[in-house]
Amino acid sequence: MSDAPALPKTMRAAVLRTPDVSEFTIERIPVPQPRAGEVLLKVEACGVCHSDLHVARGEIAFPRPAVLGHELSGTVVCLGEGVKDYDIGDRVVGGFIMPCTECANCLAGRDDLCSVFFENNRVHGALFDGESRLVDAEGERLNMYSAGGFAEYAVIPVSALARVADELELASAAVLGCAGMTAYSAVSRGAGDVEGSTVCIIAVGGVGLSITQVVAGLGARQIIAVDVSEEKLELARKLGATSTVNARECDVIKTVKEISGGGVNFSFEALGLPSTLGQAVRVLGEGGRAVAVGLAAGDAEVTIPITNFVRRGQELIGSFGARTRVDLPAVQRLAAEGGFSVENLVTDSYALDEINQAYTDLAQGNISGRAILRIA
Ligand SMILES: [Zn+2]
Ligand SMILES: [Zn+2]
Repeated sequence: MSDAPALPKTMRAAVLRTPDVSEFTIERIPVPQPRAGEVLLKVEACGVCHSDLHVARGEIAFPRPAVLGHELSGTVVCLGEGVKDYDIGDRVVGGFIMPCTECANCLAGRDDLCSVFFENNRVHGALFDGESRLVDAEGERLNMYSAGGFAEYAVIPVSALARVADELELASAAVLGCAGMTAYSAVSRGAGDVEGSTVCIIAVGGVGLSITQVVAGLGARQIIAVDVSEEKLELARKLGATSTVNARECDVIKTVKEISGGGVNFSFEALGLPSTLGQAVRVLGEGGRAVAVGLAAGDAEVTIPITNFVRRGQELIGSFGARTRVDLPAVQRLAAEGGFSVENLVTDSYALDEINQAYTDLAQGNISGRAILRIA
């Protein structure tokens, strides 16, 4: 390891212990050490995302005790062996998919499908060598969900990092690590070239609002946001939507077709319900492509009208996460150039010890954009 500023021996972290209760406890645990190809970050902020909520409630299986938090920004304070691309003091954002860079999918550029990451981290709560970097005060292993960003310090592989430009507020830039890069990949890999196109985004929470910003930043001509919350639709207009449709007040398919003059070139579904994914296909025009971004419960299935879909040459594609090494730097660049406002996406901020309040607010639908925990 290279020379690093003096670091404390312990830190505060939000630990999830019980198997069935979604309550985090703030504990003092040892500051972790980075190994080869990793850095230690002093965490500036970490996003409050639905995935953590699903884990906390036990809806997504994950081993406990654990430190969650997968959308983080911070400053590099210690370099692991062999790290050359980053220096102490660098401002960075960490992506939630941490690509191993060596599996067949990573070698093909599909970080979003990295088998080593999903097996070691999402199943076993570890990094690529099968070990966690975190233990509690008694020395008991703590599992890491991605880098475990709900703590004052976090170890993260450099393959998951992108630098944050000086123009961006570091805390708000955390949202690029999940919502931002997920949106960017859904647009750039899922949809393709959106410049001059017509787009419909169904459900504008953190990811949907990020898609709204990305397609606006990349030059889409018409952006129709659909949701049931007036507050979210108002935020969508602020972030680039040219029209909004309140799904409680009208027939979504008919209205979107009217606004777009027969159907859109691209649609995005960010909720994960059979009904809304069905809408995403039905609002397409000829040759249109629907991108499914929202994860669904269990074995949910969608019905689509076959003849219409075939005759009109439409497409449906799934998109989860992002090609971290490509999409995270790209969305950071878009943000630095003013095409994606991280500050406007962040509507709520909490301290680390307010984490239970943050997830209660998220669960109750009280967060219109994205919430972050300001940890530094
Ligand atoms: Zn997330
Ligand atoms: Zn891989």
